[in-house]
Order: sequence, then structure tokens, then C-alpha cells
Amino acid sequence: MSDKKTREPNPGVGCDVTGCKYNTIDCRCSAQHITVQNEKAATKGETYCSTFCPRGTC
Ligand code: SF4
Repeated sequence: MSDKKTREPNPGVGCDVTGCKYNTIDCRCSAQHITVQNEKAATKGETYCSTFCPRGTC
């Protein structure tokens, strides 16, 4: 059985990071807010969600 959260997802944020505790079963984010970091980012891959929290660790 999935341990994905059943909280209402943030309708504006889709996310495929299934290892994050805020990721919902339909690949949305259920965090109250997110912070994206890396002021030196020049590509999509260099942007990091600092709200990411691995399941079972926080
Ligand atoms: S907190 Fe970040 S990594 Fe986690 S589901 Fe939301 S957008 Fe994705």
C-alpha cells in the first residue's frame, strides 16, 4: 500500500519526485509552500526543491 499523502495537493504544482513525502499519488505537491533554490541555476536540472523530504526521514 502506498504511503503517499492524501492531503489536498497544491493545484499549481505538479511534481514527479515520488520519493518525496509531499508527493501525492497523482504526482502533485501537497506541501503548504515550496522553496526552489540555486541562485546560480542556468538550466532546469540545476534548480532544486529545498522543501524535498525523503519519505520516512522527516
Ligand atoms: S516538496 Fe518539492 S520535491 Fe516534494 S513533492 Fe513538492 S515540489 Fe516535489
